[in-house]
Amino acid sequence: MKYFQVAQGVWGMKLFYVNVYMIANRRDFAKGWVLVDAGPAGSGDKIIKMAENLFGKGTQPNAIILTHGHADHSGSVPELLKHWDVPVYAHEFEIPYLTGQSAYPPADPSVGHGLMSLLSVFFSRSPVDLSGHIKPVNMAGGLDELPEWRVVFTPGHSPGHISLFFPLNTTLIAGDAVATTHAESAIGLLGDVKKLSGPPMYMTPDWASAEQSVGILAQLEPRIIAAGHGPVLRGREATEALKQLSANFNAIAVPSSGRYVDKPAVADETGTKYIPPFTVSTKFKAATILLGMLAGFMITKQIRA
Ligand SMILES: [Zn+2]
Ligand SMILES: [Zn+2]
Repeated sequence: MKYFQVAQGVWGMKLFYVNVYMIANRRDFAKGWVLVDAGPAGSGDKIIKMAENLFGKGTQPNAIILTHGHADHSGSVPELLKHWDVPVYAHEFEIPYLTGQSAYPPADPSVGHGLMSLLSVFFSRSPVDLSGHIKPVNMAGGLDELPEWRVVFTPGHSPGHISLFFPLNTTLIAGDAVATTHAESAIGLLGDVKKLSGPPMYMTPDWASAEQSVGILAQLEPRIIAAGHGPVLRGREATEALKQLSANFNAIAVPSSGRYVDKPAVADETGTKYIPPFTVSTKFKAATILLGMLAGFMITKQIRA
């Protein structure tokens, strides 16, 4: 098992292509630690192992906090709840997707930029059912389980996306409000290509909100940026890259065409309310044909071998 240190009292682990984080409270302020995001289904054992390595055998977090409910960030919560009796927090706008009440808007494979975008059609839109465990985050008062960290509302990638910020050393846990790699490309995601980018294009249904959220994060001037996808970015370069991303959001982050580029999906506290219709671009048709050819090539190669 491989995990890495993000900052003092903060550790992360990459599970396949998504990161989870563990934050220890400073003793004078509160006890214990929290888990931020939970990785895809099947990651439970690895997360428990990492926790026991850091905090001792039989340890339990004070809470699990979800930056948002997408399946790659919430998938293993049910496994963890078999071992841990802890509350799970998310913003109230995420709760409909985490209780089976609503489904996220469909992914947009037409945004291009790599294989992950095309594969996104297979991603689950209704992740896990956490009814009875999930609680809304108190956005005004923050989390008792993590008193020194600020909870920042950063919607756009999902309607109730939140980020976590520690003002003392300006550590930002950004979830998918930004990515620190090319989240659309399999090479970017599985490798460790460092590049501050907007939220994963194929799963972002509201670009205007996403831009506002990046603006809010840029104003925090974080020196340490730990995102859901990609390696940790540090130092003045990280702060500057985030400012650049915010200033040039349309050019850097927003796909040139896509289902949600002109019209966002609309959601409220009961879930998805409106999904713009899907119009297929020529570029997307070409990409699908290319993927088909590649699949055909792989199959023939297998048959011959
Ligand atoms: Zn996501
Ligand atoms: Zn993600």
